[in-house]
Amino acid sequence: MLERDHNACQFCGHVARKYMNVHHLNESGENNPDNLITCCVACHAVLHVGRNLTLGVVEVWESKLSQVEIVRATREGVKSGKTLQAIKKTLKLKKGLYPPGSIEYANTIVASMGKSPRASLEEPLSAVFINLKRWQIEQAT
Ligand SMILES: [Zn+2]
Ligand SMILES: [Zn+2]
Repeated sequence: MLERDHNACQFCGHVARKYMNVHHLNESGENNPDNLITCCVACHAVLHVGRNLTLGVVEVWESKLSQVEIVRATREGVKSGKTLQAIKKTLKLKKGLYPPGSIEYANTIVASMGKSPRASLEEPLSAVFINLKRWQIEQAT
C-alpha cells in the first residue's frame, strides 16, 4: 500500500519513508487494497478521533484553519523545535460547544462521521494534537 500511495499520506500529502500508517477504510478490517489507505500518524489520529479524544491524544476546538492546515502547522512547529503546547497557542483556537477533551465531543463526532471515514471534522471543528511524540508528527523522510 505504501508503494501504491508513493509513501504519501492521502489526506495531508506528507511523504515519509518511515512510520507511515495504513488505515482500514471500513470497519470490516479486510486487508484488500480497496480497503487500505496510507496516512501519516497525525491524520490517522484524526481518523480515530473518538478514541483519541478519550485517550487524551487530541482535543477538539473551533478554528478557522482546516484540519489539514492544523496538521501541517503542527508538523512545521515540531520541526522547528516547538512543543505541542506552544504550537497550540499559535493556532488561534476557540472553545466550542463542549470542553475540548470531552466525552461529549467523542460521542457527537463519532456519530456525525457515519460510515465514510474522514481525516477531518465538521467545520468549524478541528482536532488539535496534544499528546503525540515528536517522531510521530515529524516522521522520517
Ligand atoms: Zn497526513
Ligand atoms: Zn486506522
